[in-house]
Amino acid sequence: MKFDPSSVNALMDITKRPELVFVRGQGSWLYDHTGKRYLDFVQGWAVNCLGHCPAEAVKAINEQASLLLNPSPAFYNKPSIDLSNRITGASCFDRVFFANTGAEANEGAIKLARKWGQLKRNGAYKIITFDHSFHGRTIATMSASGKPGWGTMFPPQVEGFPKARLNDIDSVKALIDDQTVAVMLEPVQGEGGVIPADREFMKALRQLTTERGLLLIVDEVQTGYGRTGAMFAYQLFGIEPDIMTLGKGIGGGVPLAALCAREAVSVFQHGDQGGTYNGNPLMTAVGVAVFDALMAPGFLQGVQERGNYLSQGLLKLSAKWGMQGERGEGLLRALILDRDDGPAIVEAARDFSPEGMLLNAPRPNLLRFMPALNVTTEEIDLMLERLDAIVAQVRSA
Ligand SMILES: *Cc1c(COP(=O)(O)O)cnc(C)c1O
Repeated sequence: MKFDPSSVNALMDITKRPELVFVRGQGSWLYDHTGKRYLDFVQGWAVNCLGHCPAEAVKAINEQASLLLNPSPAFYNKPSIDLSNRITGASCFDRVFFANTGAEANEGAIKLARKWGQLKRNGAYKIITFDHSFHGRTIATMSASGKPGWGTMFPPQVEGFPKARLNDIDSVKALIDDQTVAVMLEPVQGEGGVIPADREFMKALRQLTTERGLLLIVDEVQTGYGRTGAMFAYQLFGIEPDIMTLGKGIGGGVPLAALCAREAVSVFQHGDQGGTYNGNPLMTAVGVAVFDALMAPGFLQGVQERGNYLSQGLLKLSAKWGMQGERGEGLLRALILDRDDGPAIVEAARDFSPEGMLLNAPRPNLLRFMPALNVTTEEIDLMLERLDAIVAQVRSA
């Protein structure tokens, strides 16, 4: 097959895409229309937690597809019941509402916090969020995000999301007033450049929110389900939030997200929340398969080990090239470059021949790594070896 540039004119041009078409994927490998293969350390932005087309997910899709697709969220279905019980059984939460995207789950979290504020806090509605945070692309979640410029792209923005600084508890305290209902953060800021919250900061935040009667909301759309080596990243901090959102990895590649809350906070009344596809059995059946794969004995321990292995390899590469080290949790990591050639490295890696490699640069001086959680150490070695060659190529040009 040949790439025909005019064939893509009917697609909205929302981002600069390379002139290739991906046709097939397996594990850590993607194949394009020419048959060229790519080692994938992006995995759909941390979405394919078991790699491309994992057998568990394919089996679940096939079995469920011939059984029942969608009876409507107004009725119970078995996969969504099963998945909700798994999530509540493994976490500090009591209730789950399934959604289709991370942004939708976060919208639900914002609505739930505002509803709780109406009922318990005299109509308090403000949710303190953080500079450089990312919570999605709906109007409200863009307003909640601390990505520079996002609040003003589609004015008027949604009001009530004052921004504090991550790992600066005083900056949170300074924003609290009697209209404040919650604090929302990513345990590791993903799009912001893989910036983990400090252990002390998260503990202080839990204490502060409890003392002041505020909800603590964790957006685990990127960190959720094993990415950091814990099933849920909040568990790394020894705290228990009131609300958590999940997305990306929980569907192993299919659109599935979740809003989780403790019983005392699950205050939606009938009619407050819903959605046509919410908790449909096709997606939640995949969710059950993904959950069980991650909870299999030794799996999460393996994520921690492979995370350490990747970390060590990145540190070596950093030392060799005079870069500025690496950071992250588990298999969500970043290599901090000594110059702004991240985008050039990403492009050269993709175009590398005979085999390419997919990397991501959320900031010009940073490479982010989000491999499949079952990536092998051989694949990590191969990625590091090629990255070394690609950095040499880019920096000699
Ligand atoms: C990706 C992401 C979202 C948005 O998820 P979508 O499924 O793209 O709507 C929200 N929060 C975080 C932390 C994310 O990484």
